[in-house]
Amino acid sequence: MAKKVLVVGAGIVGASVAWHLAKAGCAIIVVDAGEGGGVATAHSFAWINATWGNPERYFHFRRRSMAGWRRLESEIPGVAVNWCGGMTWDIPAEDFDRFETEHTRWGYGMRRVDNAGAQRIEPGLKTPPDRALFVAEEGMVEPVEAARAILAAVVAAGGKVMTGTRVASFATRSGKVIGATTGDGTLIQADETVIAAGTETQNLLETIGVRLRMIMSPGLIMHSTVASERLLNGLVFAPQCNVRQTREGRLIAGSDFAGADPKGEEERMARELLARVKALVRGSESLDIGFITVGHRPTPADGFPAIGRPDGVEGLYVTVMHSGVTLAPIVGELVAREIAEGFRDPDLAPYHPGRAELV
Ligand SMILES: Cc1cc2nc3c(=O)[nH]c(=O)nc-3n(C[C@H](O)[C@H](O)[C@H](O)COP(=O)(O)OP(=O)(O)OC[C@H]3O[C@@H](n4cnc5c(N)ncnc54)[C@H](O)[C@@H]3O)c2cc1C
Repeated sequence: MAKKVLVVGAGIVGASVAWHLAKAGCAIIVVDAGEGGGVATAHSFAWINATWGNPERYFHFRRRSMAGWRRLESEIPGVAVNWCGGMTWDIPAEDFDRFETEHTRWGYGMRRVDNAGAQRIEPGLKTPPDRALFVAEEGMVEPVEAARAILAAVVAAGGKVMTGTRVASFATRSGKVIGATTGDGTLIQADETVIAAGTETQNLLETIGVRLRMIMSPGLIMHSTVASERLLNGLVFAPQCNVRQTREGRLIAGSDFAGADPKGEEERMARELLARVKALVRGSESLDIGFITVGHRPTPADGFPAIGRPDGVEGLYVTVMHSGVTLAPIVGELVAREIAEGFRDPDLAPYHPGRAELV
């Protein structure tokens, strides 16, 4: 009989886990407290990348996931990444050479561009930088659309997705998790339960006595009103202004690592971002703030993903991470292999949820 797996959370990570498990022949139920599509996912800048101060092993993990997005695009109608490339000059001058050399040595398709090169890549920049790094293999995705397309594929493969359904606690028998109980008291039984609940993961684990320390750093993103034409080709990381144009036509911007802490001054920060966007991008002068989002990154305390079975609890699996948009394909693929086939990929070794840094 097919293994029955309950996935708690239908953001980009839960959707991908559910899809890969369905492909592996498991019987899937996904439950989500919201509408499906995620919470952190809906507040994300959604830049697909392997860059930024990562140890080499984590860099390769992320890169593997970038390839996973291309596979998902071919498997699921409606999953569409814009492989537009990313150009950055938001790097301290003293780090520039090391950053370039290191990533190039690791095999990242990074190339240095001068003022004319930057202008060719982004003709819409008012003042192109004199020196920047361009990575053609990076991309961006509309993350809620992608998560919903993946969930639709889960349903098409015979899985069940229950939205508006909050898991209140886990059900156990002889110390093994045998499913979860929803807010209205309904028990959903499963052979294995996967928590993909983003920032709620820590609280859910606590209900069963498992500790997993997390940091939820906030990030504000200013979404402009819709521009009637294409103003940017790809991802642009200028100092204090990381910006991209969505498929709908909005320019979305964050001040730092794709969204910084507004410290209670959302409106002021968004106004500043809009002013920076206007100073940077030709044709954006008439845009206004469309809306502002402040999301929290579901980050395990040491900054790296937590993926695996918590120590001492049978029947439970956890998947929580920042950069979940980048990482969703590889996480889904490897979690499915572990749950369906019993094979734990060696690339998951650093990310055990019971590691000393998290408990
Ligand atoms: C400002 C910002 C910028 C970011 N930029 C990037 C970026 O550029 N690139 C990148 O790769 N990543 C980025 N991230 C991180 C990325 O968005 C997250 O890592 C990713 O979205 C996490 O997805 P998830 O599915 O784990 O969580 P979520 O999207 O939060 O989904 C979790 C789901 O679980 C459900 N849930 C929670 N508790 C329960 C419960 N008890 N019962 C039932 N359902 C429950 C919620 O309703 C939610 O739908 C950014 C995040 C932020 C906030």
